[in-house]
Amino acid sequence: MAGAAGYGARAGYHRPGPRTHFRLRFLMAAPSFETIVNLARKRGFVFRASEIYGGLRSAYDYGPLGVALLRNVKSAWWRSMVQLRDDVVGLDSAIIQAPQVWEASGHVGQFNDPLVECGNCHARHRFDRLEDPDRCPTCGARGTFTDARDFNLMFRTHMGPVASDSNLVYLRPETAQGIFTNFENVRRVARLKLPFGIAQLGKSFRNEITPGQFVFRTREFEQMEMEFFTHRDDADDWYRYWVEERYQWYLDLGMNPDNIKLRSHTEDELAHYAVATQDVEYRFPWGWDELEGIANRTDFDLRQHSQASGKDLRYFDQAAGERFFPYVIEPAAGATRAAFAFLIDAYHQETVRDAPRTVLRLDSRLAPIKVAVLPLSKKPDLVEVTDRVAEALRPRWDIEVDVTQAIGRRYRRQDEIGTPYCVTVDFDTLDDGAVTVRDRDTMAQDRIGIGQLCDYLGERLGAG
Ligand code: ATP
Repeated sequence: MAGAAGYGARAGYHRPGPRTHFRLRFLMAAPSFETIVNLARKRGFVFRASEIYGGLRSAYDYGPLGVALLRNVKSAWWRSMVQLRDDVVGLDSAIIQAPQVWEASGHVGQFNDPLVECGNCHARHRFDRLEDPDRCPTCGARGTFTDARDFNLMFRTHMGPVASDSNLVYLRPETAQGIFTNFENVRRVARLKLPFGIAQLGKSFRNEITPGQFVFRTREFEQMEMEFFTHRDDADDWYRYWVEERYQWYLDLGMNPDNIKLRSHTEDELAHYAVATQDVEYRFPWGWDELEGIANRTDFDLRQHSQASGKDLRYFDQAAGERFFPYVIEPAAGATRAAFAFLIDAYHQETVRDAPRTVLRLDSRLAPIKVAVLPLSKKPDLVEVTDRVAEALRPRWDIEVDVTQAIGRRYRRQDEIGTPYCVTVDFDTLDDGAVTVRDRDTMAQDRIGIGQLCDYLGERLGAG
């Protein structure tokens, strides 16, 4: 016992009294871009795609923690946009649709970015994003750009074994169009009356000219979009409602209000289908940039698809005896981009008792691992209790059992991946049937009977 206590104390474990607090000193400086990328790589949130072959430029794979974070972001979105509402339903449409969809939506003709090429180094850039329109950011040469030409962002492929013009298809550049083409199907089967929304999340593809900033802008990414259909007279009110609602969603999930703001699009920024758009912007390490756009898309899409398909996609309001194209308010967010922003926002470095501590203060709903179960030693009787505790928790929460290294290092690792609670099984557990629960943020430690552990954690983490 004395040996075990010594081991724990040496390693930073501290058998608590009723409640124990450490004094923290916060270092509030925002993390650099490299810091976040290094953490994401080191802890296996994100890997380079095809890494063993040298990587594929700006394509990424999500590792065990990354996939959990991403899934949690998507679940939180689905919960707030679909599950908790009685006026929004879900959809999962195909990535490859008939090419006419993209002709009608304007993506074939208008989904272009202006591309310039440097005559000196042959690097290609998106003209509207250059800091200095006369200077190549790759080689520094001046006056070497070609004239800007339109570059269509859609990925093309062919359906079937022989590639020909007749079987050209596109990978969807947004999930929204699958919603518009299913407007009547969904309305009918779900027996919906205006106003109502259809939500969808999934992969989208854009052949971006300048992808970059890690997972912020990639060619394959995940979107979370909802099309909210309403009478045109109510469209402005719903637009304001959804702008506020979506802004609040990020705050409710713990984003620092200093790092998030709304910005209205200027007249010349508006997409061809929109009469009003506001972006939710995040203060990324390189400056303010878009997380999500909320747009009033008018009746553009339903009208276009009606015209092109010959199917009447108007809504019939029985009470008013009126048939019309509903207006659409669209909150369109990036799941991969949001996960990245939550990661940046959660990153904190502190000094605790003169030692540095890195902690991800992720909201527990987003944290990849909710509870870590840590036996103080690898002795069989402790491991046996650990297994029992883990079995009780596993059906309810994503947990991890870690038996390696000194307890202090294990705490530090869990802090660094944002695990809200560490449960330590120590030698006293064998006598008193209790474990120590350590809170990630306050580092307070509570002694809790194993029989009460699920309730204790359930109160703090939710039902699981
Ligand atoms: P941006 O101005 O950053 O290119 P956008 O205005 O073209 O974005 P939308 O068409 O409004 O983007 O798409 C909705 C959301 O999808 C964006 O707010 C963003 O979060 C996400 N998104 C768009 N393009 C990408 C991309 N290449 N990589 C990752 N996420 C993206």
